[in-house]
Amino acid sequence: MIFDEYYIKSLIRSVHDWPAPGVIFRDITPLFQSPKAHRMVIDSLIQRYVDTEITHIAALDARGFLPGAVIAYALNKPLVLLRKQGKLPAETETETYDLEYGQATIEVQRGALDPGNSVLLIDDLIATGGTLLAAATLIRRLGAHVYEAAAIIDLPDLGGSTKLQDANIPTFTLCAF
Ligand code: AMP
Repeated sequence: MIFDEYYIKSLIRSVHDWPAPGVIFRDITPLFQSPKAHRMVIDSLIQRYVDTEITHIAALDARGFLPGAVIAYALNKPLVLLRKQGKLPAETETETYDLEYGQATIEVQRGALDPGNSVLLIDDLIATGGTLLAAATLIRRLGAHVYEAAAIIDLPDLGGSTKLQDANIPTFTLCAF
């Protein structure tokens, strides 16, 4: 199936002033409700990462879990969950980062990765890049290498993908708003 950016974008609903005034929320739920669009997105990512050096998929809580889990299954790679604070049992590494308003913390379990691992990071969307940058910091703290950060959507006006590339994190997105 050939990737059709216009078709995929037509299935991402833009919700104005949600969850806060001034924000345009890019809602991917219609995309996942379409088996054809779901398959198009997942197949494009699988094609990109099959036959690469990737050893692990690390997916961001919560919408990153959707593509992350399917890609890990398809590529037959271990899936590492990067979760919001307080969700993972046992020993964790944590990283706090700035949001548009306030701060957030994500965690990974110690021992989830080893030095020498090459990790594909996956989330649904790149806005300011803070979430994926914090995720990359955690991966690197465990000694692993970040192969690339992938998302379905980029919001280039918010500068996140540029910020990630400046931090030597290659980025890949399927569409932009
Ligand atoms: P950031 O850390 O600023 O790059 O924000 C990315 C994270 O916040 C992703 O996990 C997204 O799910 C979520 N996010 C940020 N802005 C939006 C938006 N406009 N629409 C949908 N999700 C968003």
